[in-house]
Amino acid sequence: MIGILGGGQLGRMLSLAASRLGMRTHIFCPDAGSPAFEVTPHRTIAAYDDEAALAGFADAVDVITYEFENVPAATAAFLASRKPLRPGPDALAISQDRLAEKSFLVSKNIPVAPHRAVTSLMDLDAAIDALGLPAVLKTTRLGYDGKGQSVLRDRAEAAGAFAALSPKPLVLEAFVPFDTEISVVVARNAAGEVRAYDAAENVHRHHILHTSTVPAKISPGLEKHAAMLAKVIVVALDYVGVLGVEFFVVPGERPSLMVNEIAPRVHNSGHWTEAVCLTDQFEQHIRAIAGWPLGDPTRLADVVMENLIGEGVLNVPGGLDRDTRPHLYGKTDARPGRKMGHLNRIVRP
Ligand code: AMP
Repeated sequence: MIGILGGGQLGRMLSLAASRLGMRTHIFCPDAGSPAFEVTPHRTIAAYDDEAALAGFADAVDVITYEFENVPAATAAFLASRKPLRPGPDALAISQDRLAEKSFLVSKNIPVAPHRAVTSLMDLDAAIDALGLPAVLKTTRLGYDGKGQSVLRDRAEAAGAFAALSPKPLVLEAFVPFDTEISVVVARNAAGEVRAYDAAENVHRHHILHTSTVPAKISPGLEKHAAMLAKVIVVALDYVGVLGVEFFVVPGERPSLMVNEIAPRVHNSGHWTEAVCLTDQFEQHIRAIAGWPLGDPTRLADVVMENLIGEGVLNVPGGLDRDTRPHLYGKTDARPGRKMGHLNRIVRP
């Protein structure tokens, strides 16, 4: 029995993958309407700080994982003291805080955008002196899909952006003039096996992932380098599970990579693996946390994954063709900006 914290589409897809391997899943989520509750009968509906509910959940499962990185540290520690939590609390703590994440990456010689911690307007002024403009001011914690960040193009915008985001701890990042964004989904199991999927080239719309295209239009050398960096990260974290690594591809005589973000979970930019890989990212994560050998991540075809956002989902099934595999999350309310499903379009040679 696998315990999953979080009941969104990632939890749902993990649960489906576990079922196929003959395992059961127990979803813990405060929101009774969560999509993952539809696919397994084992559930706890409670707040993430409800210790009695967490204890009951831990007793009911063999191993615990999560589908979002903002699991409160106290919740993670409480659960980890009762059952194996995979990935472990360290990976969670690092990926919850942009500054901790960048410090960790820098300590492993992995390039990240030049950045400075900002807790006051004076810090911000000094950070702008050091990094120049444009730059991106971000909250260190709880930002996603472009929330909790603001691009500064002009010093006159600094005070307003600071006021809007503070008093939370902030980080100013130099604006990276990237060519493209790519990501690598990588897996490691407890025995230390490591496997990376091919890199995906990602396009965002309104700060939300729109498409992931595989293969990415980058050189084989750069693709290998991205996989190598992703592997360095999971080994350094003694990581168990699937991890997503987002990179900027920085143009130059020899294009280079910077890590933008890591996510200690299955990743939206890895949904394409479901349609074209021998083992998809969901099965891979379940295998890793269950102590199984990892599966083969080999890709069998080129593919484009497109997210269905808000009412975009209403065009399915009308817009389907023979090369498109739809995946809908069963959410009843197609609010603007909400991830409702995705399409995997196989690209025939
Ligand atoms: P994040 O929430 O950090 O993943 O940022 C969301 C998106 O904003 C990224 O996917 C980029 O497209 C853009 N972005 C974030 N940070 C930077 C940066 N330092 N320079 C340029 N673009 C950025």
